[in-house]
Amino acid sequence: MKDTESRKEFEARLTSLGQAYVAGLPRRFTDLRTALSQRNDEGVSEDGLQQLQRLAHSLAGSAKTFGLMQLGRRARALEAAVVDGIDDSRYLAKLIAECERADRTPRAVASVATGVRQVGHSVAEPPEVLVIEIDRVAGKELASQLNYFGFCARALDSRQAFVDAVRETTRPSAVIADVAYIAGGNDGSMGIRALRASGALPAPVVFLSRRDEFRTRLAAVQAGGAAYFTKPFDIVPLVDRLDALTGQERDTPYRVLVVDDEPEAGRYHAAVLSSGGFVTTVCDTPSAVPSVLSEFRPDLVLLDLHMPECSGADLAAVIRQIEGFLTMPIVFLSAEEDPQRRIGAMGRGGDDFISKPVIEEQLVAGIKMRVARARQIARLADRDGLTGLLKHTSIKEALSRELSNARRGDHACVFVLLDIDRFKNVNDTYGHLVGDRVIKSLARLLRNRLRESDWIGRYGGEEFAIVLPRCSVNAAQGLIEEIAHRFRAIRHHGAPGLDFSATFSAGAADYRLGDTVDAMIHAADSALYEAKRAGRDRVKVRPISG
Ligand code: GH3
Ligand code: MG
Ligand code: MG
Repeated sequence: MKDTESRKEFEARLTSLGQAYVAGLPRRFTDLRTALSQRNDEGVSEDGLQQLQRLAHSLAGSAKTFGLMQLGRRARALEAAVVDGIDDSRYLAKLIAECERADRTPRAVASVATGVRQVGHSVAEPPEVLVIEIDRVAGKELASQLNYFGFCARALDSRQAFVDAVRETTRPSAVIADVAYIAGGNDGSMGIRALRASGALPAPVVFLSRRDEFRTRLAAVQAGGAAYFTKPFDIVPLVDRLDALTGQERDTPYRVLVVDDEPEAGRYHAAVLSSGGFVTTVCDTPSAVPSVLSEFRPDLVLLDLHMPECSGADLAAVIRQIEGFLTMPIVFLSAEEDPQRRIGAMGRGGDDFISKPVIEEQLVAGIKMRVARARQIARLADRDGLTGLLKHTSIKEALSRELSNARRGDHACVFVLLDIDRFKNVNDTYGHLVGDRVIKSLARLLRNRLRESDWIGRYGGEEFAIVLPRCSVNAAQGLIEEIAHRFRAIRHHGAPGLDFSATFSAGAADYRLGDTVDAMIHAADSALYEAKRAGRDRVKVRPISG
């Protein structure tokens, strides 16, 4: 995503969109008069009247978008006259002339809420984590475990090294410290309590302790501790906590598709939404919407209610028939004031109305709220509770979508099935709960190492599926092997004094012309079977032929 646009630049862009619109008005008036001049024996022709109505309608809507309220009302009056069956060309010409005389000063740009967070698209730098442990060996081991999970962790081996690291310009995102470091030596100045009190340590602190005593817990809270783990602890809950504290669970930017047959109006609303941190695409041709939907994959569609090619309500109904878009919010943008017609449009698949002209602040806030809610619901519906990954059916849907993209765009796509080795043993030896944590740690690793455009699902109990669009099978193999290396290095805590590690096997299948979803799954499954048969803990790819 491009860099955050400054408020000034944004206002300049809106102003220039408004100016472009005003500059295009004379053409619109010419078109109105041309429509009116289409005659037959009885006066203005039926075709001419239809065109006139359509042009007047679009003029009324777009004028309101740019705050030309007087022009909007006069164009609406012209439209209403035609709808009411008036075909007196002199009267209609007078109404057109009134439109031309209307005020053409676009509204001053209103202020957009500044509190809206700009969301970035790029994968962030790994968060810096400082570890300070009484047991230095344990500290080093913890830091290296965290690095396997994608953190940039460093263990310090003295108070002085810790204080220096905290004061360095690269501020840590989080600190993990033994409770022994709360007080900080003789004068207390090098302790976490003192560092926090002086403001030198703004990062969240996670305390580790051998004791599970109220007094120690209280001291940790009073020193500003954000979490407390009793040793020995499992790495996965600690990683979860660090994710939450360092904001690793960031949401991806909200995507909105704006459909408006008036390109200027569409661009204007898209500009308002971009300024609020949304990623937007404008489409001015209703018939192109289905293909844009599958390519752009919006969270929400903002739809102009009145378009000549097909009405917004009809288009909403069409969208609802496309697989995968049954629950995506559709919001109508319209100057429609008739409650009956509004209700009618909602019945066809729309979820809400936003009135034209929009107040920028309300548009951004309103759309944001709807997308957030829709994402929340969607997440509950197609995410697996233990891992937060896509459920079985959703990952298959993702594969199906990516296969049709690959077919259409003639690019690569890889499907990977991945299964934890001898997992039954883990459950039998340490119990189901420990097994669950192993599953979670692999899920976390996959999420951390893959791109935002990749799809990751929990295919079954200890089986995972990944869809890698625009990826070669060699790149996929390298990537999965790198993940396998990290996973193998994670030490799971089975029971007091009993740590163990786990491995997985994987099978990767590249898309080949004519492959169906089932063929891809079958190919990946066969490769996975090969990996198991050849001794497990390895990645196999689909053979060149077959
Ligand atoms: P292989 O290397 O051949 O894959 O051996 P395996 O033991 O992993 O394979 P198998 O399919 O025989 O066993 C999978 C086990 O995973 C059986 C099941 O109890 C366990 N399992 C499935 N889902 C879960 C889960 O959600 N949590 C836990 N803890 N265990 C699960
Ligand atoms: Mg299995
Ligand atoms: Mg298994």
